[in-house]
Amino acid sequence: MDDLAAGLIAEIGDTARVITQPQIVERLSRDFYWYSPVLKPLLDGKCADVVVQPLNAKEVCDVLRYCYAHEVPVTVRGAGTGNYGQAVPLHRGVVLDLQRMDRIESIGEDGVAICEPGVRLGALENAAREQGWELRCYPSTIAKASLGGFLAGGSGGIGSIAHGGVRDFNTVRAIEVVTMESQPRVVLHEGQAVHDILHAWGTNGVITKIGFALTPAVAWAQCAVAFESLEEAFDFSEKIAIDATWTKRLLTVFEWPIPLFFSPVKEVTRQGKALIFALIAEDQRAAFEERALAAGGEMTLSAPYMGLRSMPLLSDYTWNHTTLWAMKANPAYTYLQCGFDAVRVREQLAMLKNKFGSEFLHHMEWWKNGQGAIVPLAIPVVRFTTEERLNEMIDFCREIGVFVANPHVNNVEGGGRYREDNAQLQAKYRYDPKGLMNPGKMATFTPRNAAEEQPA
Ligand SMILES: Cc1cc2nc3c(=O)[nH]c(=O)nc-3n(C[C@H](O)[C@H](O)[C@H](O)COP(=O)(O)OP(=O)(O)OC[C@H]3O[C@@H](n4cnc5c(N)ncnc54)[C@H](O)[C@@H]3O)c2cc1C
Repeated sequence: MDDLAAGLIAEIGDTARVITQPQIVERLSRDFYWYSPVLKPLLDGKCADVVVQPLNAKEVCDVLRYCYAHEVPVTVRGAGTGNYGQAVPLHRGVVLDLQRMDRIESIGEDGVAICEPGVRLGALENAAREQGWELRCYPSTIAKASLGGFLAGGSGGIGSIAHGGVRDFNTVRAIEVVTMESQPRVVLHEGQAVHDILHAWGTNGVITKIGFALTPAVAWAQCAVAFESLEEAFDFSEKIAIDATWTKRLLTVFEWPIPLFFSPVKEVTRQGKALIFALIAEDQRAAFEERALAAGGEMTLSAPYMGLRSMPLLSDYTWNHTTLWAMKANPAYTYLQCGFDAVRVREQLAMLKNKFGSEFLHHMEWWKNGQGAIVPLAIPVVRFTTEERLNEMIDFCREIGVFVANPHVNNVEGGGRYREDNAQLQAKYRYDPKGLMNPGKMATFTPRNAAEEQPA
C-alpha cells in the first residue's frame, strides 16, 4: 500500500491529494448501499487502499496509466450518494474521487452547460438559473450529488415529468472519457455514442467533461394537496400529469401512512390522508388550487418556490428521498423501483395492495418516456422481512406487468437499466480490457488479454 501511495504521489506530484488515512479512505469508499438490506451485508467493510483526488484530465490519465501498469483496480467516485453500492470498491485499489474537478466551464446561449464531472448538481442549477436556464431533470440528492455521478449512476427525478431522464431527449450532448489502457486516451462521445458510457457505473472509463443540455428557467410554485384516498389523489395527479397545458416539474403521490414519516413537514400532512407534492408554474398556481379543490383535495401548502433554499423544500421528500424518511421512521422499510402500465395502473395498484397489504406502500411519480408519453413510475416503500419475501414482491410485480428495476443488486446488468445492444459492455472491452474499472460491477464482462487491446 505504501508503494501504491508513493507511486501515485510520484504521478501527480502532490501528497495532500493521495489519501491513505484509514478513516477517510473508509468514508470515501462508501455510498448509500446500506439503503438495501440485501446489499448491506454484502458490501459492509469493502474499502479501497488509497483515495486520489485529481484536478484535471491529465492527472486522471496519469493515475490510470499507473494503475494499468500495476494492475490496480480503480473505482470512480462523484459524491457517493448512489444507493446500490455503485461506488463501493469490491477489490480494494484506488478510489478516484473527482470532487475537485468541479468547474462549470460555460453555459452557452444554446443552453448547453460544459462542466467537469465533480460539479454539484445544486451548484449547476443555481448557476444556470442566474442565466435564465435550469436543469431538465435532477435527483432528489441535488444538493450533494455530482453531475458525473448522475450520468454514470442515476436515472432522473424532479423534472422527468417534463423532460424524461438523464438518458432521454439528447439531454447529454457530449461526454469526454479517459480510458484505462497502457496509454490512456481522452475520447469524445457525442450523439448516440454517449449511451456507451451513460449508466455504466464507471466501469468503462472516467468521465472528465460533459456537455449537458438545460431548459429555460420557469418561476415555480410548491403545492401540497391532501386527499381522502390514494385513488382520488392518483386520479387528480394523472389529470395534471398528462395534460400538456400544465407546466410542471414534480407531481408525487403518497399513500397514507407514508406522509406520517415526513416529521419536519407534518403541518402539510393530514392524518390518514393521501398526499400530493407538486412543483407547478407560479402563474398556474391559482388554477391548480382551484382544480385541486374541485377534485376534493385540501391545499395544505401553496407558495412560490424560492429555489433550493425553499423552506420547506418539498422535493426533499420525493423520489428516493421518500425511502430515506421511511427508513428514519422505521429501519425495517426498504424500497423497489417500478414502472406501471399507463392503462392498467389502477388495477395493478389494487392487485399489489390485495396481495401485500401494508407491507407495500404506494409512492407514485410521473415520467415522460422516450416516446413522449407521460407514464406512472413508483418507488414503493416496502417492509423488509427476508430476501425471499422481497423477491416474491418483485416476481409478483413482474407477473402483473409492473416493470421492476431491482435496486438490491450490485451490477449494471441486474439493475434493469442495462442496454440490450451491449453498448456499455463493448465500450468496456475497448476502454478497459483488463477489467480494472470498478471490477465486479459489470457482470457480463470477462477480462481480455492486454494484447487484444483494440484501438478506437
Ligand atoms: C436519498 C437518496 C435519494 C436519491 N434520489 C435519486 C433520484 O431521485 N434520482 C436518481 O437518479 N438517483 C437518486 N439517488 C441516487 C443518487 O443520489 C444519484 O444517482 C446521484 O446522481 C449520484 O451522484 P453521485 O455524485 O453521488 O454519484 P456516486 O454515487 O459517486 O457514483 C455513482 C456511480 O457513478 C460512477 N461515477 C461517478 N462519477 C463518475 C465519473 N466522473 N466517471 C465515471 N463514473 C463515475 C461511480 O463509480 C458510481 O458507479 C438517490 C440516492 C439517495 C441516497
